[in-house]
Amino acid sequence: MAPMSLNPPDLRPDLSRPRLAEERRPGQPTIGMVSLGCPKALVDSERILTRLRAEGYAISPNYQGAEAVIVNTCGFLDSAKAESLEAIGEALESNGRVIVTGCLGAEPEYITGAHPKVLAVTGPHQYEQVLDAVHSAVPPAPDPFVDLLPASGVKLTPRHYSYLKISEGCNHRCKFCVIPDMRGRLVSRPAHAVIREAEKLVESGVKELLVISQDTSAYGADIRFAEERGHRAHIDDLARDLGSLGAWVRLHYVYPYPRVRNLIPLMAEGLVLPYLDIPFQHAHPDTLKRMARPSAQTETLTEIAAWREICPEIALRSTFIVGYPGETEAEFDYLLDWLDEAQLDRVGCFKYEDVEGARSNALPDHVPEAVKQDRWKRFMEKAQAISEKKLAAKVGTLQEVLVDDIDADGIATCRTKADAPEIDGCLFIDEGTKGLSVGDLVTVEVDEAGEYDLWGRLPG
Ligand code: SF4
Repeated sequence: MAPMSLNPPDLRPDLSRPRLAEERRPGQPTIGMVSLGCPKALVDSERILTRLRAEGYAISPNYQGAEAVIVNTCGFLDSAKAESLEAIGEALESNGRVIVTGCLGAEPEYITGAHPKVLAVTGPHQYEQVLDAVHSAVPPAPDPFVDLLPASGVKLTPRHYSYLKISEGCNHRCKFCVIPDMRGRLVSRPAHAVIREAEKLVESGVKELLVISQDTSAYGADIRFAEERGHRAHIDDLARDLGSLGAWVRLHYVYPYPRVRNLIPLMAEGLVLPYLDIPFQHAHPDTLKRMARPSAQTETLTEIAAWREICPEIALRSTFIVGYPGETEAEFDYLLDWLDEAQLDRVGCFKYEDVEGARSNALPDHVPEAVKQDRWKRFMEKAQAISEKKLAAKVGTLQEVLVDDIDADGIATCRTKADAPEIDGCLFIDEGTKGLSVGDLVTVEVDEAGEYDLWGRLPG
């Protein structure tokens, strides 16, 4: 796996079809699902499948076994839109009965223009409408004796980790992003509902909770950080409450507010993983201003230093956009120098792309493709060198790892606390894995490091 060579639009933790193999009872209505897009969309897919399963539907891992297929689409970038249209076309060709949902569903004419034969188009989070569309395409036939919902719902991710969505939408207006138009303003789930879902997941064997939203650090702002049933809807409290459940808790999509500093002591205490996924997007104040992002990035370096002082083992992941309209060579060089200082552990990089409806499209001085490509390459080379150096420093250390997979040759693919699934690196154990099972937490001695991955052995 070479995650850092990928642009974020290619990060599709869910490119694989739902990993479900179920016994189907005679006459049981059966639905297939193709889930594209980011982890947030994956959570939506899981919710839809959980409901369908609860209603007595079987879930087919392929098109042929399904009476209809739901395609959960992504509309974040034009390339993702094209990929979504392609997936719809494939589902139509293989199955013929297709219900479209997800981000791209916010633009129904775009879909029906290309694929007039789809049965229904619903937008993001319109669970009820998706279910209505399924009901009319394939009527339910519930059997109360066998259709018991597993405690953790129907999951597309492996059983030992789970995404946990805490809010939807975003109150920012970054110029390159259409998510606030597509998904609306911030809507937080009540803290007690999030905690209840997390408890259920942990009880059913989940070892790692991946907290996601469009803006994790803003959690609760829309509901005035309300306290209900003993749980306050504030990220500091939520992180602490989740941390008390005994699973790994990983925070994703944390917007760089100054208040982020309050989360770091929870990492130092071991309640939350010492890992922060915090998209900076750029470092030069002028580029950031043109993006309508917070522009005091020199202060960000001071913040990063403060975080490391509180929690020296913190791993920082971020994403950046290069070739943003108006980005000069000097601004890009500034970004490279900033990266040198910041020494981030994990970095993803987009080449700027116009997205239909984004305000950045109208900015002057778009950067030629060849320049974007060159800057992306230079950026990734630097990021890779930093990653390599940071990983080399881990050789000889003991790391607690979570086992994600063990292949037929006995090679275990694991992750340290510094590695989120699908987007970061792995730690491989090549031998002595006989007693190990997927989902185990074990301590490993690191004996080799590459550009993005580590190798280790179980202490004898
Ligand atoms: S904070 Fe994220 S989701 Fe919100 S507008 Fe900016 S890029 Fe989009």
